[in-house]
Amino acid sequence: MSRIELDNLAHQYVPGGDYALQPMQHVWEDGGAYALLGPSGCGKTTLLNIISGLLQPSQGRVLFGEQDVTRLAPEQRNIGQVFQFPVIYDTMSVFDNLAFPLRNRKLGEAYVARRVTQIAGMLGLEGVLKRRAKNLTADAKQKISLGRGLVREDVAAVLFDEPLTVIDPHLKWQLRRKLREVHEQLNLTLVYVTHDQTEALTFADKVVVMLAGQVLQVGTPQALFERPAHTFVGYFIGSPGMNFFDCQLEGSEAVIDGERVALEPAMAEAARNAGGRLQLGIRPGLIRPAAADEPALNIKVDKVEDLGDYALVSGHLGQQPVHVRLEASGAIGADGLRVVFPTQNALLYADDRLVGGGE
Ligand code: ATP
Repeated sequence: MSRIELDNLAHQYVPGGDYALQPMQHVWEDGGAYALLGPSGCGKTTLLNIISGLLQPSQGRVLFGEQDVTRLAPEQRNIGQVFQFPVIYDTMSVFDNLAFPLRNRKLGEAYVARRVTQIAGMLGLEGVLKRRAKNLTADAKQKISLGRGLVREDVAAVLFDEPLTVIDPHLKWQLRRKLREVHEQLNLTLVYVTHDQTEALTFADKVVVMLAGQVLQVGTPQALFERPAHTFVGYFIGSPGMNFFDCQLEGSEAVIDGERVALEPAMAEAARNAGGRLQLGIRPGLIRPAAADEPALNIKVDKVEDLGDYALVSGHLGQQPVHVRLEASGAIGADGLRVVFPTQNALLYADDRLVGGGE
């Protein structure tokens, strides 16, 4: 296993053209589980292909540990790979499929049997080891692919490119949990590409959120939720995403279409220094109903959805759209909803960047 360093890395498919990846500098820790998350076209596959060696970057270096692998072909890089669609040998047994990467490296049969049994057990394939892969379901075939990617202990990293695309929706959840367990047991460095936030947040220790060729934030799921470094991260993570309101500063207050929110004084001061377009960000679940005698913000309610254990209110604060997540819809009055934005939950963004910085 290795740490992965992306040193001043960038990529243009066409010299002098647009950057598919903007220049970046990152270190991903040895044994970490990283998810690359972002919308279609943000550069996830480009980055994964550069790490695997399928693509040579137009700028910068990739290091596995101390070794510069930038110019090495995939087979020289010592990595495991799992693709969107199963890559297996149909005519071989499940056992032989899983054993293949180990036998290729001339490892002894006793070790092969032990390791294949271990990996098969983790993925729930122990009952089909003797069966030919050909007649198995698409789910089982993809599990074999996952197993083949994970079976070698000596790899620098295992790279996954949207590996659960072909998996039945109700099995996805199970397999995500499995991968998480496998990661905890095997201690491999894993890099997992997905555009699905649930997949990224349940799988990864650290999520790398990308947009338009840029890494906007690398953080734990909790950090992405609590302190999004960029408005896109706040909007993209969470369902619904974070609320953002254009605002002005007056002292330590943000003014949103005439409504006032008290801010942490240090944050207000930093925002004043940062300048640019100023937005206040707050998660729908961190807005609370106001007590009767409390100064409050007035939300015009457009819609209330009862989602079982909570109600989701869609409305407007001044002219600006807002979502509020309430434990009960009883707080909504005839003329709207009176709420408080608790000071510690209100973040400020200057030109889309979190004032005071993220993780
Ligand atoms: P998706 O989730 O749709 O696979 P992605 O996040 O993996 O998207 P990439 O496929 O890495 O994104 O694409 C990043 C950018 O590079 C896009 O603007 C895309 O059009 C461009 N691109 C990708 N492959 C090529 C190529 N072979 N030649 C030129 N441009 C490319």
